[in-house]
Amino acid sequence: MTDRAEAVKRVFTAKNSRVDTNRGERYYKELYVRCKKRIEELKSMESFGSKAELSEILSDEGYSRRDFMKWTSATTAMLMLPGFFEPLVAEAAEMMNRIPVIWVEYQDCAGNTEAFIRSDGPKIDDIILDIISLEFHETLMAPAGFQAERQLDDARETFKGKYLLFVEGAIPLAENGIYGTTGPAGETFIEQLTSLAADAAAIVAVGTCATFGGVPAASPNPTGAKGVMDVINGKPIINIPACPANPANMVGVILHYVLTGQIPELDSLLRPKFAFGYRIHDNCERRAHFDAGEFVEEWGDEGAKNNFCLYKMGCKGPMTFNNCSIIRYNESVSWPVGVGHGCIGCSEPDFWDKYAYERPMADANIKAPAGGVEKSVDEFGLGILTATGIGIAIHAAASLFAGKKSDGEDAS
Ligand code: SF4
Ligand code: SF4
Repeated sequence: MTDRAEAVKRVFTAKNSRVDTNRGERYYKELYVRCKKRIEELKSMESFGSKAELSEILSDEGYSRRDFMKWTSATTAMLMLPGFFEPLVAEAAEMMNRIPVIWVEYQDCAGNTEAFIRSDGPKIDDIILDIISLEFHETLMAPAGFQAERQLDDARETFKGKYLLFVEGAIPLAENGIYGTTGPAGETFIEQLTSLAADAAAIVAVGTCATFGGVPAASPNPTGAKGVMDVINGKPIINIPACPANPANMVGVILHYVLTGQIPELDSLLRPKFAFGYRIHDNCERRAHFDAGEFVEEWGDEGAKNNFCLYKMGCKGPMTFNNCSIIRYNESVSWPVGVGHGCIGCSEPDFWDKYAYERPMADANIKAPAGGVEKSVDEFGLGILTATGIGIAIHAAASLFAGKKSDGEDAS
């Protein structure tokens, strides 16, 4: 884990020196003073979550202080903060139990909850998620029915205006929201969300269903499913898409809020730039094969055995923004492209309809993080190798034609 933390730190530090050039030393010094003051205020507050010290829990799980400092160092770089923030980030991690969290689930598969509670050989991110002040989580808590309702009412009353509202799953709006109800009174998801959002400090939409509608919103979207940002106004919303959202990004968002008292800087889709300012393709271990024109042509061929680029098998890494090619999944062991399947763009809007198929996009336009279109696929990377670019363009067009033809044949 520790070698991986060092590698992650190296990548983020190198990238951030390019990403964050417009902020001077003075900005960070003033931010440091504000964060220091905030940490002191939090220290004087009662802890709501786990009463156990983080250092004790880490030690019980076999992590040394040195491991924790390496994690702190990598996380500071991930949050796009300079190295002198590391001691403050370490203190903020120990204060994670000062911020109350209410977690609700709507149209979902609970995959983000599963990612959140990963406990088989937990890494430091997972342990830190264990100590947050989770005041309500219907799937994880013991009470049900009226008791659960009472717990939710108590939490929202006690922490009014202070809690982070985590939302997992899409919100159905068709037929007045009747496709999703919760609790003994049969409240619709949209009614409950609207009411909980009103008392929240900020809303964190986790997973692609809560952010952009995800699979429930796939065509023909019979329940009228929408993401949080399409149904709630007037509250800060932070989107952490992906299927599932990476626990490291959940920790990053809460940690940033604990440290600064503010939500992180967001892109045009309300995603934190520290996590979604990176294109999958730019940090992919197969990128050298893409540039060399070496591709997997069919599953199980020699190219697949040699870990060649998966673009021709439908990898959407060139048009997807996420940091999973840097921080990976499952204790940073691997990620989808690492084990041989292309990226399906799960952190982008409409991914199920637009990206989740095993052929390249012939007409892809690559979105810039700030909004608008940055480049076409041909301009982005493929232009470097003209012959390869032409080969792929022909392959992509043929695949699209084949796809349309077979769609047509299926329909007839
Ligand atoms: S197309 Fe996919 S597999 Fe190929 S380099 Fe880009 S992200 Fe990696
Ligand atoms: S590689 Fe692509 S599809 Fe896989 S988790 Fe990352 S963004 Fe989602």
